[in-house]
Amino acid sequence: MAPDLDWDALGERGVALLMALLRFETVNPPGNERPAALFVQSELERVGLSARIFEGAPERSNVVCRIPGDGSGGGPLLLSGHLDVVPVERQHWDLPPFEAAVRDGYLYGRGTIDMKNHVAACLLVMQILAESGLTPRRDIIFAAVADEEEGCRWGSQYLVERHPEAVRAEYMIGEVGGYSLDMTGVRYYPIQIAEKGRAKIKMTAFGAPGHGSMPHRDMAVTRLARALNTLGASRLPQHATGAMNRFFAILADTQPAPMRWVLPQLLKPRIADALLARALPPDRARSLGALLSNTATATMLEGSSKFNVIPGAASAILDGRTLPGQTPEDLVAELRALLGADLQFEVLDSAPPVEQPDPASPLYDAICASLRQHDPEGVPLPYMIPGFTDAAWFSRLGCRCYGFSPHRYPAEDNIRFTDLFHGHNERIHLDGFRWGLRLLWDVIARFTLDAHS
Ligand SMILES: [Zn+2]
Repeated sequence: MAPDLDWDALGERGVALLMALLRFETVNPPGNERPAALFVQSELERVGLSARIFEGAPERSNVVCRIPGDGSGGGPLLLSGHLDVVPVERQHWDLPPFEAAVRDGYLYGRGTIDMKNHVAACLLVMQILAESGLTPRRDIIFAAVADEEEGCRWGSQYLVERHPEAVRAEYMIGEVGGYSLDMTGVRYYPIQIAEKGRAKIKMTAFGAPGHGSMPHRDMAVTRLARALNTLGASRLPQHATGAMNRFFAILADTQPAPMRWVLPQLLKPRIADALLARALPPDRARSLGALLSNTATATMLEGSSKFNVIPGAASAILDGRTLPGQTPEDLVAELRALLGADLQFEVLDSAPPVEQPDPASPLYDAICASLRQHDPEGVPLPYMIPGFTDAAWFSRLGCRCYGFSPHRYPAEDNIRFTDLFHGHNERIHLDGFRWGLRLLWDVIARFTLDAHS
């Protein structure tokens, strides 16, 4: 049985934990997660749990804690969140970003939604479980990790490669999802079920070298520029994915006209071109367009090392992103077909997509059931993100990862999660955060205890 809980008191406790976490400046780089990790450890030890610190580099601390279950429900559930945050431009903030300041019902601070909110919520869940003395049906692991914002090297990657036994799980709940998203009058709660893979690709064009004083028509830099121009003006071929098929099927069921007809047309490549170019607002076209194709964005350039020498080769580094079902080699083949066979492509580094074409599972059911209980009008919406999270690493140990760190905004405030994510004035609505605490607890109780609250 789940315990009787005083949610007024627990809500305040959750807010206090989040405020304490926000005051640690864990901007990455350099990260300096250690003091925040020690705080998390002490909060776990305070309720009788043991929590271990793992460090791959000085000050880059991860903290991991396990509540053993009886195993009757299956393999472990991993609750994961990262302790580091992205940098701030203080001059653009209305309130200081590391002081946990409150205004008009909102708590401001770097990390309020990415993702110290989830770290605080998971910490509270662990404390409630420990204090209840209940034995869950499966192990529950909590990992607060370092270094997500700079690619996970000292965080989830380090744990997965060096201490897999500490974090191997059947299911994971992490970012990005669970926030309220109002679209044409309908309130959705995205649940992340997939993320794109990454491929760092070097694209090189060749030409005749020479002296800068005598230009000619066979120059590598000119060839590279032509290719980049074409790349920047093109969309790579569209590919169907289970995640996006489900996403648009739910929008077709729930959106009012005409969006219920328009949005699913994006699954048709020819119509998608026109819709993305002309019919949709630019920010929506950009975010949806990135989820329909592989992408390659030129971000770094290299030519001659001397101003008066025409180089024999010029290259660009491409930030490539691959859809589920696609490999870096598939992406290179698409680039070759678009840009010509005389360019050279070299995959310098890559990571596979996180793929879960069908989200259905007992955990997904628990998330949806709890969401409907706490917001009967809300619509759970499985989705894919174009970026990556710690799920990219934890999924390598065979775990099914869901992004769900629930909180919500009053619809009338017109807050868009995506504007605040890594944005100025990152903030969370305090009532919406408290609502999310109870919802997350409910999901975990439903999934791991005999009954929920
Ligand atoms: Zn994050």
